[in-house]
Amino acid sequence: MSSSIQKNPSPGALAQGPRRLPSVERLVAGADGDDLAVYGRTAFTDAIRTVLAGLRAAGGRVPDDAEIRAAAVGRLVAERRRSLRPVFNLTGTVLHTNLGRALLPRSAAEAVAAVMVQASNLEYDLATGARGERDDHVEALICRLTGAEAAVVVNNNAAAVLLVLNALAMRKEVVVSRGELVEIGGSFRIPDVMVRAGCRLREVGTTNRTHLRDFADAIGPRTGLVMKVHPSNYAIAGFTAAADPAALHALCRERGVPLADDLGSGSLVDLAAYGLPPEPTIRAALERADVVTFSGDKLLGAVQCGIVAGRTDLIARIRRNPLKRALRVDKMTYAALEAVLRLYLHPERLAEELPTLRLLTRDRAAIAARARCLAPAVAERLSGWATVSVAECISQIGSGALPVETLPSAALVLTPDPAGGEPRRGAGGRCKRLAERLRTLPVPVIGRISDDAVVLDLRTLEDEAGLLDSLAALPPRGQGG
Ligand SMILES: *Cc1c(COP(=O)(O)O)cnc(C)c1O
Repeated sequence: MSSSIQKNPSPGALAQGPRRLPSVERLVAGADGDDLAVYGRTAFTDAIRTVLAGLRAAGGRVPDDAEIRAAAVGRLVAERRRSLRPVFNLTGTVLHTNLGRALLPRSAAEAVAAVMVQASNLEYDLATGARGERDDHVEALICRLTGAEAAVVVNNNAAAVLLVLNALAMRKEVVVSRGELVEIGGSFRIPDVMVRAGCRLREVGTTNRTHLRDFADAIGPRTGLVMKVHPSNYAIAGFTAAADPAALHALCRERGVPLADDLGSGSLVDLAAYGLPPEPTIRAALERADVVTFSGDKLLGAVQCGIVAGRTDLIARIRRNPLKRALRVDKMTYAALEAVLRLYLHPERLAEELPTLRLLTRDRAAIAARARCLAPAVAERLSGWATVSVAECISQIGSGALPVETLPSAALVLTPDPAGGEPRRGAGGRCKRLAERLRTLPVPVIGRISDDAVVLDLRTLEDEAGLLDSLAALPPRGQGG
C-alpha cells in the first residue's frame, strides 16, 4: 500500500511541491530577442520543450527561468556545431587518411567554390556549344605531366583499380605476383577486388620471390591482364626477387596482354629532387606499363579521386565501361584537381605552393625553431594541465607512400600534470584525459600519445595563431578537469 502512495502522489502535492515547472509560453515570451532571432522561434521553443521534458523526467530542483533558457541555448549551440569540421592534425602523419589526407592550396579551394555556386561548363564545349566530356578539363594536363596518351578520373584509386580490372579483364585471368597481393586497409584487398570486378586471380611466384619466367608460364589464352601492385604499406626484405619491370613489359607486349601498375600513391615529380626519399614517378611507371592507377589525395596533393592514365586504346575501353558512369566524380573534384595539376607546371614554386610538398619538405631545424618559439605560449594556455617541452620526433608521409621511410621532425611534448582534485590516475590515464580534452576544443587538436605524454608533431602546423586560439578555450584546471 505504501508503495502505491509513493508512485501516485496526490495532485495537490504536485501543484505545490518543488517540481512545478514554468510553462513553455512564459519561457519563450521572456526570451532574449537575439536568441530568438539567431535560432528562430520554432527551434528555440523546441529546445525549451526538450529541456523541460528532461527536467520533468529527472525530478528534483526546478531551476529558475534564466537557467532553463540558458540550457536551451546550450542545446541549440551544440546542435549547430557541424559534424564535419577542421581539426589540427599534429599526429606526425602528413597524409592521414582518417584526418582527410592532402590539404588543398587556397587557390584550389577557391576554384571549387567558384563552380559550386554558379553553373559551369562541366560537360559543355564552349567552342562548339555541343556536349563536352568532363575528363577534358584535366586529361591534357595529366598527359603533359605524366607522358600518358590518355586519362580518366574516378571516385578514388580503389575505384580506378576496380574499373581497370572490369574493363580490361572481365571473365578473364589477371596475373599477379604473390608478393603483391596487398591489403590497403578499409577492407580493400586485391584478391577480393578481383572477384568483385569479375576477374579470376592467377597468382604467380612466392611471397618473397617472383621471376619473369613465373609470368611467362602463367600468361596464356585466358589471360586478360597482368597487374603490378605497389607494396604501399609494407616492405619485403631479405632474400627477395621481382621480375625486371622492363623485361616484364616486353613480355606482355610480345604476348599481346596489357600490363597495369597500381601505384597507389604515385608522384608527379621526383621526390629526391626535393630532398625526400625517392618514390618512382608516374612518368617512369608508364614507361614500363600500359596503364597506371594512382590516388588524387596522396602524394599528388589534390582531392579524393583515382586517376587511370595510359594507352589511348585501353583508356577508351575504360571510358566506355558502364562502371565509369557509376564511379564518376563531381565538378568539385575536377575544379580542385585542375587547380593542383596547374601548380605542377611551375615546379620551381611547387614546394611552396602545394601544401603536401611544403609540409613534407620542412626540415627538422626549421620545425624545431618554430617549436621553441611556440612553447612558452602553449605552456601558458596549458597551465595546470601539462608541462610543455620541445623534443625531436619522427614524422611519416602516410597513406601508403614510402611506408618504411620517415622524416625527422620536432614536437611539443605535453606531460600531464598530476593535478590536485582529480581522482588518482596513472600517467597513462592522465594522457588519455588530456588528449580527450584537446579533442573537445573549438578546433580539435589531434596529437599522439607516446611515453606518457601527448606529442604534438609540428611538421604539419602552419596556423600557429589558430592553435593558440583553440588552446585558449581550455578551461582553467580544476573546473573542467
Ligand atoms: C591507397 C591505395 C589504393 C586505394 O586508393 P584510394 O585512393 O584510397 O581509394 C589502392 N592501391 C594502392 C597500392 C594504394 O596504396
